[in-house]
Amino acid sequence: MVTTLLDRIGLLVTNDPTLGDGSALGQLADAALVVDARGTVSWAGPSAQAPAADVRLDAGGRCVVPGFVDSHAHLVFAGDRAAEFTARMSGQPYAAGGIRTTVAATRDAPDEVLAANLARLVAELRRQGTTTVEIKSGYGLTVHDESRALALARAHTDETTFLGAHVVPPEYADDPSAYVDLVTGPMLDACGPYARWIDVFCEDGAFDSDAARAVLTAGLARGLGARVHANQLGPGPGVQLACELGAASADHCTHLDDVDVAALADSATVATLLPGVEFSTRSPYPDARRLLAAGVTVALATDCNPGSCYTSSMPFCIALAVREMRMTPAEALWAATAGGAAALRRTDVGRLAPGSRADLVLLDAPSYVHLAYRPGVPLVTDVWAGRPPATR
Ligand SMILES: [Zn+2]
Repeated sequence: MVTTLLDRIGLLVTNDPTLGDGSALGQLADAALVVDARGTVSWAGPSAQAPAADVRLDAGGRCVVPGFVDSHAHLVFAGDRAAEFTARMSGQPYAAGGIRTTVAATRDAPDEVLAANLARLVAELRRQGTTTVEIKSGYGLTVHDESRALALARAHTDETTFLGAHVVPPEYADDPSAYVDLVTGPMLDACGPYARWIDVFCEDGAFDSDAARAVLTAGLARGLGARVHANQLGPGPGVQLACELGAASADHCTHLDDVDVAALADSATVATLLPGVEFSTRSPYPDARRLLAAGVTVALATDCNPGSCYTSSMPFCIALAVREMRMTPAEALWAATAGGAAALRRTDVGRLAPGSRADLVLLDAPSYVHLAYRPGVPLVTDVWAGRPPATR
């Protein structure tokens, strides 16, 4: 059994309020961590009290935070939409229909092309500190193309989400209810074995309340957990539907009324904010302060996708959350780690306390505050997924 001591951590964020300073981040200065042979944290505390271990590594005074948990990403696709982005930046508004461009490219792509693009993106996320990622289907929209997307995603993460109800594909434009029947029938049959979650884009131009309810109910009946793309482009029923059905997360939450906020506050449904989307579509940001004031659990994620937000960077999303949504640096870091874990109903990630996975990020900075204070700077120097990179 090889145990590893990571010593001389300048500032350790545990996300365990019983450790350290008593804040939600559970911060400890001059700290150390011990990781067991299975890649689990077995001890966290002051350096001076650290137990012996087989191997000692020196953090050199750097800040250590839990690996980022990106609970919302669309990574299985082909092509890009740089031209659409250019048009949008020239003043054209974002509409949900652009998804169909990527659907056409994805259907045409051989498995090897999709697999290579997915692997490249997962590596890109990892380099920026993401150690848990949720990956959605949703650019195939046929039984074959949705199930192959999820099979590819499964090679990288257990957090796979069936999003056949992303948009109604062109061949069903005249009969969207027949497409809902396909999603809730044969497509769910084929995709269920590869998916942990089911998701629906509940929005004008995508799926209305009745269709979204049918999709989520069918997934829940198969034992999948529910997540919802809700209230992104305008007010709508998505958030309340998510809360009513016990979804783990309502994502976007950009256009909320008081009833929506109250429903989130009274439920176990996390509000996942995706500020990269508002940045990339030049749209108003969600009101994070209103959600936090109401006691809603807030997560941050990238929504990495080729259309509305092609960033894979959780540090960038943290910076946006602080600058544009007025979250404190501590709130934003918590939302990008423990919040993401809550949105995936995980207790083993998003924290660095005894029993959690040793998924962690070393920052070339004395504090996590630098993630927002120094936007765009590559501060992530080492990423552990259960163990140091050199020993993986
Ligand atoms: Zn999305």
